[in-house]
Amino acid sequence: MTETIKIKSPLTEELIKELPAHSSEDVQEAIGIARDIAPYWSGLSFKERIGYFKTVRKIFLEEKENIVDILHKETGKTKTDALVAEVLLSVGILKFYEDNAEEFLMDRKVKGFGISALKDLYVRNFPYGLVGVITSWNYPLLLTFSDAFPALMAGNCVLAKPSSLTPLTALMLDDIFERAGIPEGVYKTIVCKGRSEATDTFIKGVDMIAFTGSTNVGIGIGKSCIEDLKPCTLELGGKDPMIVLEDAKLERAVNAAVFGSLMNTGQTCISIERIYVVDSVYDEFVTKVVEKTRSLTVGEDEDFNTDVGSMTSEEQLNEVLEQIDDAVKKGARILFGGKRIGERGYFLEPAVIVDVNESMDIMTEETFGPVIAIRSVRDADEAIELANSSIYGLNGAIFTKDIEKGLKMAGEIESGSLCINDCLINYGIAELPFMGVKKSGIGVRHSEAGIKRFCRSQSVVVDKMGLKNEVYWYPHSKTSADMIFKVVDQFYKVEDA
Ligand code: NAD
Repeated sequence: MTETIKIKSPLTEELIKELPAHSSEDVQEAIGIARDIAPYWSGLSFKERIGYFKTVRKIFLEEKENIVDILHKETGKTKTDALVAEVLLSVGILKFYEDNAEEFLMDRKVKGFGISALKDLYVRNFPYGLVGVITSWNYPLLLTFSDAFPALMAGNCVLAKPSSLTPLTALMLDDIFERAGIPEGVYKTIVCKGRSEATDTFIKGVDMIAFTGSTNVGIGIGKSCIEDLKPCTLELGGKDPMIVLEDAKLERAVNAAVFGSLMNTGQTCISIERIYVVDSVYDEFVTKVVEKTRSLTVGEDEDFNTDVGSMTSEEQLNEVLEQIDDAVKKGARILFGGKRIGERGYFLEPAVIVDVNESMDIMTEETFGPVIAIRSVRDADEAIELANSSIYGLNGAIFTKDIEKGLKMAGEIESGSLCINDCLINYGIAELPFMGVKKSGIGVRHSEAGIKRFCRSQSVVVDKMGLKNEVYWYPHSKTSADMIFKVVDQFYKVEDA
């Protein structure tokens, strides 16, 4: 019997669609079709491939309202969250690679020195072939855009595996690609459960994997890849700190803290999860955060006028409630929210929690929900020490008017990215590399590095002298050794200062 994937709307808990799951045989077939079309796709010029993507972008923009509606229903996020993160940022990433892919990947001539000055040197980039893009449910489109589009522009075909919680929006891309005239097999969405025979076939069958998801699953996928020495990038969890110093612009810091913690109902890998505020401004900061959080609207989104949406799954909601419970048992105080609300759906009233410390799950485990946890600290040094006490190192934020100090502190924080007087936006800035350190991942997305990861590079040396023999080839002799000694001295001696 064919397995099915049931998609329930988190807003109403009603079944919105039931899809047949792809089997291992289906995945094998998709891999075969992709392999057949791969030489055609990689053989196109950048102009030709980018021509297709301009059409994709045109159709994507025509469909934007539809996309927002489906995302709202499928994930429970507000329409504005869908519009900002999944439409605005996604299309920005697409355009960035349309504008820059060719420049980033063109053959590069490298200048030589010493013996290499006698050669022409080139670095070239070739697509791996078939890239597997595995993504989580929190941003079904944005994460696919971050990985699938640069992979495709580099000349790869892509098999995409979204989370089985949110395949509907991801499937829209297949439709858009078809309408854009992109040949069958260049891009395909596979719908299946995470741990299944189909995913095993998927992982075995592709040439490279770009994974976004939890740290535990990512480590498992990394291990499977290493068995075949298959390249992979792993974009994993985070527990991002925000630090508020005495001289911070407090209104901005408060607004950022609330938005950065609650955007996408707090289900963001780079959401602010631990706020460290120096003693002197702590009370005022907390009062203002409670005020702001109290003013937010939570619920279904009729017309872009709701602030916080539903959580995407009941399982996730219960995990967050357990973390809140654990914190309270260990002495934390809830100043606002923290309760499930509404007649239906997975809504959690955003929680503001204080008197927290690192013995509590809420300050150490990833909290994928609308929680604002605030701790007071003595000074910047204590804030940095606590920020670095996490196993994760994805993103973070520092609020201070002293930018020089902020930059110095940023250098002391173990994270792949960091914002000063800002939050979250760095993910949407495709010009900048985005990556995690520690247990937050390996590999870079976005920027030049974010497309090069989908290519094997090749170095080529071309002789330009045309001599019959090289001095270091056979036969070896004292005369040739003397010449080599001369070269060593001439090119590599240390000049007196
Ligand atoms: P998850 O690890 O459970 O699942 C991620 C994807 O992997 C899904 O498509 C899932 O079906 C698939 N999967 C699960 N088990 C698998 C297995 N054994 N083999 C192959 N595939 C498998 O994560 P999630 O709950 O969907 O997403 C939340 C996590 O994603 C959070 O930890 C979050 O921080 C992280 N995330 C990270 C980034 C980033 O850029 N660093 C971005 C978004 C989300």
